[in-house]
Amino acid sequence: RLDYRGVSENIVYKSTNAINRKAPIARDAIQAVARAYTELKTISGSLNAQRNARSAVGERIRRSAVANDVKEKELAMAEALKIKEEIARLEPALAAVEESLLSLALAIPNDTHPSSPLGPESAAVTLSTHGPELLAADSRRDHVTIAKKFGLVDFEGAATVTGSSWYYLLNEAALLEMALTNYALHIAAKHGFSPVTTPDVVRSDIASRCGFQPRDDPDSPASQVYHLQSKDLVLAATSEIPLAGMFASKLYLDTALPLKVVGIGRAFRAEAGARGSDTRGLYRVHQFTKVELFAVTKAEESERMMEEMKAVQMSIMNGLRVPYRILDMPSEELGASAYRKYDIEAWMPGRGAWGEVCSLSNCTDYQSRRLHIRYQVNPTTGTTPTKPTTFAHTLNGTAAAIPRLIITLLENGATFDEQGELVSIALPEVLKPFW
Ligand code: AMP
Repeated sequence: RLDYRGVSENIVYKSTNAINRKAPIARDAIQAVARAYTELKTISGSLNAQRNARSAVGERIRRSAVANDVKEKELAMAEALKIKEEIARLEPALAAVEESLLSLALAIPNDTHPSSPLGPESAAVTLSTHGPELLAADSRRDHVTIAKKFGLVDFEGAATVTGSSWYYLLNEAALLEMALTNYALHIAAKHGFSPVTTPDVVRSDIASRCGFQPRDDPDSPASQVYHLQSKDLVLAATSEIPLAGMFASKLYLDTALPLKVVGIGRAFRAEAGARGSDTRGLYRVHQFTKVELFAVTKAEESERMMEEMKAVQMSIMNGLRVPYRILDMPSEELGASAYRKYDIEAWMPGRGAWGEVCSLSNCTDYQSRRLHIRYQVNPTTGTTPTKPTTFAHTLNGTAAAIPRLIITLLENGATFDEQGELVSIALPEVLKPFW
């Protein structure tokens, strides 16, 4: 159930918010939702009145039949016929308005946290910086050069087999993927997140309900998702989608929340239109292993959960002993679903730049309204009387996105001899038990 009333009562905020977020929706879509909602209320009011009238007239027919009042019975039956015709007219009208309302409202983005900066990516605010001193930018530390020297990645073979921006991880890099995955899982599990391996293929409807490419055209070269032969199925861009879907259509007691899971899946990104230095090496690839945190909370607890998940991400990054910083992301970077988003960027000296390695989003009730994830105060333990059901809040965050962590570790860990020759890669101690 989307919050049509909330939209109708806050047209100015919702319209400004859509502009601030550069949401891809029609200019007058929000006013159109408000108009359609008024129409919906009028039609459903008339329909209810007709249904009540139908019960009353049914009772009149029954009584007049018992009393053998032929005239009254005829009058009541004529009225029943009129009501039947009116209901037959109103029901499809209601369905049509409901459908147009839904498709308009689906495109409206989530509200934005009052502290989120407004504007494009450059407006991001650095909340904190951690880890060792930054190494100077140095092209000898470029991960592609390092990977070639030590035989860690095969881009050419993957280009032949699949295409550009695909790769094989070889030797220690393949082991590093496993070690990083298990390390991140281990830390997440220590913080109470239950491990889940997810399906990497999802229904496109579930992806839309999570806020991904709601109107993506499967036949367009600009499509950001990989559609399968069955147009109904797509490769998941992130295990956030199957994880969120796990909780769809569920009603929980408040005492059962929060629910915390950590998913291991492959993420598939078409990355249509991606160009430039970002597409070099492992930075922006079409498939990668990702460990993903996901939580379902009570409405009043999602902001606290966001901080808890940030602490898990920091614990993972701290163990890797690389410089990183946390950013509060601005409105144009929030996508459709996030109310607030933090990114973690790690320093990549070979690229000579900070690179995003994790993100964390509080989606409040955006996904739960579309997926129908609800909770109720437990009538036996709740302090308030039993309340109607409430939509839960959902959050997702990267625990480990493997290729960019490999870049970070290679570029920061490269060690050189006195002649400046690359001799080895120093890897963090925390990975040893997972090697
Ligand atoms: P996102 O789900 O887009 O917020 O991405 C989560 C994390 O996955 C990012 O912080 C990156 O570390 C990583 N990532 C996203 N897209 C790619 C890609 N195309 N190739 C490699 N890593 C990616």
